[in-house]
Amino acid sequence: MTDAATPSQDAEQRLLESVPSKLLIGGQWTDGSEGDTIEVEDPATGKVLKTIASASPEDGAKALDAACAAQEEWARTAPRTRAEILRKAFDLLQERKEDFALLMTLEMGKPLAESRGEVAYGGEFLRWFSEETARISGRYATAPDGANRLLVNKRPVGPCLLITPWNFPLAMATRKIAPAIAAGCTMVLKPATLTPLTSLLFADLLREAGLPDGVLNVVTAKSASKVTGPLLKDSRLRKLSFTGSTEVGQRLIADSAQRVLRTSMELGGNAPFLVFEDADLEKAVEGAMLAKMRNMGEACTAANRFIVHESVAEEFSAKFAEKLAALKALRGTDKASTLGPLVDADSRAKVEELVQDAVDKGATVRTGGKAVEGPGYFYEPTLLTDVAEDSRVLTEEIFGPVAPVITFSTEAEAVEKANASDFGLVSYVYTQSVNRALRMGERLETGMLGVNAGVVSNPAAPFGGVKMSGIGREGGFEGIEEYLSTQYVGIADPWADAES
Ligand code: NAP
Repeated sequence: MTDAATPSQDAEQRLLESVPSKLLIGGQWTDGSEGDTIEVEDPATGKVLKTIASASPEDGAKALDAACAAQEEWARTAPRTRAEILRKAFDLLQERKEDFALLMTLEMGKPLAESRGEVAYGGEFLRWFSEETARISGRYATAPDGANRLLVNKRPVGPCLLITPWNFPLAMATRKIAPAIAAGCTMVLKPATLTPLTSLLFADLLREAGLPDGVLNVVTAKSASKVTGPLLKDSRLRKLSFTGSTEVGQRLIADSAQRVLRTSMELGGNAPFLVFEDADLEKAVEGAMLAKMRNMGEACTAANRFIVHESVAEEFSAKFAEKLAALKALRGTDKASTLGPLVDADSRAKVEELVQDAVDKGATVRTGGKAVEGPGYFYEPTLLTDVAEDSRVLTEEIFGPVAPVITFSTEAEAVEKANASDFGLVSYVYTQSVNRALRMGERLETGMLGVNAGVVSNPAAPFGGVKMSGIGREGGFEGIEEYLSTQYVGIADPWADAES
């Protein structure tokens, strides 16, 4: 299949048949022990794409057994060996980028062009961490009193449980798997039930890239907590890395506390998008389209609240509404599609509820405002102005193509409104003042800041939030640290027995 073509039904079918449909445990594709299955749907049509195995708690335990059995030998492999597996996986992914893009579009709904972008983004974690593998280092120092020597060593944390969401089926997996491989950890991956196919195909690719049996085990499961709950209680598990909603993350932090399990948490967001009076408005609208509409608004980094200076709010809103109205809501495989469906009926119902709540409280619908009729879970790109402060659309994560605009008159008011959230993942600022942009970095409660940029995600940068958006960072130099533990070795004075 080439980039330009809309894939044929035959191509879709062939691809779906090539995706493994079983659990990966200890290097073997295995049926679930209870014979349970999951039907994976196309959100653009509501039709079943493929039926795959669903793990039982017993399968989860076997997956952890396999990860534990592989851990010691895997930790001892040469860093270069691990780097080369990652690099090979990166190369294979480039060769198969169209297959992965199409598969994500089929199971998640985003337009093919966006899926290609995710393959590029997700793949870069493989390349970045292949490069980081050989740079894991410690230190050797003389204690301040001159007597002992201090050896500080980085060791793999050990077997990890990785739980991923449905919105970026490839990148959320590679952002965890690549640093875990680089650090020498083994894994049990539990992908989202709505979009498990990409993880299964990617696990197959890693095997082809030379990943030894048992290093990555994949358990797709209808009931996540039944499978992962017992693993969190198992003393052999050393880490949980979770990406998903704050609500589930809170529960998993509480469960992890029982064994003082190390956790990384990439949780929900409620990003403010600030447009100051000196902003380049054309660029701000372009940035708003990216920050709001990437992934149909189903991104933790999605701009959730547009906070615009009162002197430019009308012009910004008019231009933004015009661009939103021009989007084409079509199945993501269609070449003309620029807006895919939401992932399921519940997600669309929540978006409908939030818009209705805002309208009931006085908001004006400038464009969109309703579900698209027909098959699939499409929702019109929507812009709301005159949004009352107590509207749920401002306080909850929208996770859909809806942009509420509110205004401010002073910088202090903008900062107060931006920080009025329990979340703190990312913020966006549009201004032509360098000082103001830098000041915003100091005033906004945020893990990441986009300055005149509507997308900040980059595999070489530390991704993560403050407040209820999470704990830890993925990507960048920091990303591998999440999978390493620091060991200190105290050594008695090596001069004690030296000849004088
Ligand atoms: P979710 O409902 O929290 O689910 C995430 C994952 O956790 C899925 O694999 C899910 O399995 C599993 N899960 C659900 N309940 C569980 C439980 N009790 N025990 C163990 N696992 C459980 O989130 P989502 O709807 O997939 O994803 C959307 C959310 O993810 C949004 O809030 C978004 O902001 C956040 N997100 C954050 C980042 C970030 O980097 N900060 C990135 C992407 C997304 P099932 O699929 O079987 O339910």
